[in-house]
Amino acid sequence: SRIKEVQFVKSSGRAKDCPKDERPEFAILGRSNVGKSSLINSLVRKKEIALTSKKPGKTQLINHFLVNKSWYLVDLPGYGFAKAPEAAKTDWSSFTKGYFLNRNTLVAVLLLIDASVPPQKIDLDCANWLGRNNIPITFVFTKCDKMKVAKGKRPDENIRDFQELIRQNYKQHPPWIMTSSVTGMGRDELLLHMSQLRNY
Ligand code: GDP
Repeated sequence: SRIKEVQFVKSSGRAKDCPKDERPEFAILGRSNVGKSSLINSLVRKKEIALTSKKPGKTQLINHFLVNKSWYLVDLPGYGFAKAPEAAKTDWSSFTKGYFLNRNTLVAVLLLIDASVPPQKIDLDCANWLGRNNIPITFVFTKCDKMKVAKGKRPDENIRDFQELIRQNYKQHPPWIMTSSVTGMGRDELLLHMSQLRNY
């Protein structure tokens, strides 16, 4: 399940411009600041590969990375930019929804959830939308190393609260993995998980 090689393939402005071969792919999705670039870097162990621009409203592209010449890791635009203009938010949904609903080679969405904050409505909305549309997801909780959050709950408590809310909408609870890009926690588990889903 090791990542030996990663090549940037292309950025697509529309779902129909994505690569047309039949290789399986995983899309990485999450709120702005969730730790997506850090996670991609930690998976790939190369600092230069996560090419996402961080300016709100500017990352409206689907970025395909080819891993080990056999499967794609897809970096999707983040959501929930606090300062993004309303127009940019709307753009995001039609564009990204188009991708989800039409991408036959999509094995699963890795939905990143920040475990250092309480459950966020926008994350729950996203998870529920994907669930309603039968798109397989894996919850990847980030920042699980953050043990003491001022006044807040611990990551494991936030995760439990989140799972409880998800259970109300899912008959079968999606798989989930706890990670930290700081300690490397969950990295091997996530790589193994993806290799199992690919070979399923
Ligand atoms: P992105 O906007 O989703 O790409 O998020 P980044 O990867 O840029 O991370 C956002 C912030 O969270 C940065 O300040 C990171 O240093 C921090 N961060 C990301 N991952 C972790 C993690 O696993 N643990 C901790 N403690 N901080 C993290």
